[in-house]
Amino acid sequence: MMLNFTIFVFMIQTLIIGSGPAGYTAAIYTSRAALSPVLYEGMEPGGQLTTTTIVENYPGFENGIDANTLMDAMKAQAKRFGAEIRPGRIKSIDLSSRPFRAIDDHDNEIIAQTVIIATGATARYLGLPSETKYRGMGVSACATCDGFFYRKKTVAVVGGGDSACEEATYLAGLCKKVYMIVRRDVFRASAAMQRKVENTPNIEVLWGCNTREVLGDEYGVTGVRLEKNDGTVFDISIDGFFLGIGHHPNSDLVRGQVETDANGYIVTDGKSSATSVEGVFAAGDVQDPSYRQAITAAASGCRAALDVERFLIEHNI
Ligand code: NDP
Repeated sequence: MMLNFTIFVFMIQTLIIGSGPAGYTAAIYTSRAALSPVLYEGMEPGGQLTTTTIVENYPGFENGIDANTLMDAMKAQAKRFGAEIRPGRIKSIDLSSRPFRAIDDHDNEIIAQTVIIATGATARYLGLPSETKYRGMGVSACATCDGFFYRKKTVAVVGGGDSACEEATYLAGLCKKVYMIVRRDVFRASAAMQRKVENTPNIEVLWGCNTREVLGDEYGVTGVRLEKNDGTVFDISIDGFFLGIGHHPNSDLVRGQVETDANGYIVTDGKSSATSVEGVFAAGDVQDPSYRQAITAAASGCRAALDVERFLIEHNI
């Protein structure tokens, strides 16, 4: 039997890969500039933000906004100006010459004059079933996003790197007590960050401990079960459990084709969103190991859109 596949080829000016605040903002700006962008949403439409509940620090929403509602609104806004939003992902891309050639997961080919990579980053989790069960109910990978909900409460942060120390000191300003769960007897963090932790009286470091289970009830997290490196198991009572064990930038699609740093973050040129490949721009968490906020991602999406517009004008495209 012969199978008939219809594979389409699309010639476009701007391909946007990723549907977090960076991707949607880039789509809003490029569609308003009549560049007819095509955006692929990827595996997690709406991006990392959709794993949280209420967003209280996105400007313009006095009483906060549900994360999914915010992302749906960004998507609708981009569509209103004519951006084409497609479900699914780009499975491969060739950036060796312009126009760039991408293949989506239906094997359609997209030939694009410019590309904005806004594929985000993924927080690392421990991989415990109980951690998944209480995600959004006391388990969080973003202290800046969710710390406010734990004012005057007791929380724990897992990890001993700069991220964990930064999260712990941020939370210490809000919470009654912060435990740091560190699997070795030393921090990985820089000396300056370690000093900050040591000088914060309401942080207690639990050295040489691994998390065995996040404990909870129908309302959310109530504690955590830890195992010391000598095999002793004990529980502590907490209201919130924060992951600070690192992020993975989602740059695998373009790894080896654009310059990335030692941790895989795409390197952009100074304040611009330009990557090491002319015509390819990066926005949001895939190029930002420092700030990782919805508002900073949205702002960099705007920058990438303006960079694309200028690039197309400069090259008479
Ligand atoms: P890191 O990889 O530096 O640290 C990860 C930490 O998590 C380590 O302490 C590691 O332990 C621990 N860890 C990893 N997996 C597990 C696990 N399964 N169970 C328990 N603990 C675990 O990641 P960061 O996100 O902290 O930092 C990434 C990069 O970003 C670094 O270069 C850092 O310097 C930089 N950064 C800089 C900041 C700043 O300057 N303000 C702020 C945040 C990050 P172990 O040490 O045993 O491997």
